[in-house]
Amino acid sequence: MKVKSEQEMLLFGESFAKTIKIPTIIELVGDVGAGKTTFVRGLAKGLGVKEPVTSPSFTISKSYALKNGGFLVHYDFYRLQSPGLMAEDLQENLSNLKNIVIIEWGESIKDLLPENHQRIEIKYNEDDSREVII
Ligand code: ADP
Ligand code: MG
Repeated sequence: MKVKSEQEMLLFGESFAKTIKIPTIIELVGDVGAGKTTFVRGLAKGLGVKEPVTSPSFTISKSYALKNGGFLVHYDFYRLQSPGLMAEDLQENLSNLKNIVIIEWGESIKDLLPENHQRIEIKYNEDDSREVII
């Protein structure tokens, strides 16, 4: 699917939110600047999250309360060579059946993800558009 602008990526995330059945685990794949965090912003809006969503690249994880009592938990493992203690935090969040867990740069923790998780890949096109593969 072609996503032409940042605005369209936000709208795509927002509409994707409506398709989610909780619990859900989503792996986001794509280079730096592809639009992974932008997608999460739209997703959070679609889930009714009112707080601003910022990249968790420094904090590794950020959580946003959902209406069902669970959380949208957003990870970015880019800075971690190995997940260390964050692996336990991740496992705890993965096992909460009220959560939506969404992961950027999950290579180092891929063994912790169930096989049936969703995977969304975002690729650069030559113009500013992106190709999104679900
Ligand atoms: P990532 O999390 O993949 O590193 P971000 O979502 O943080 O990427 O940043 C994507 C950047 O690319 C933003 O600055 C956004 O404005 C810009 N951008 C330009 N075109 C698009 C597009 N079609 N989809 C998503 N982001 C886009
Ligand atoms: Mg990001």
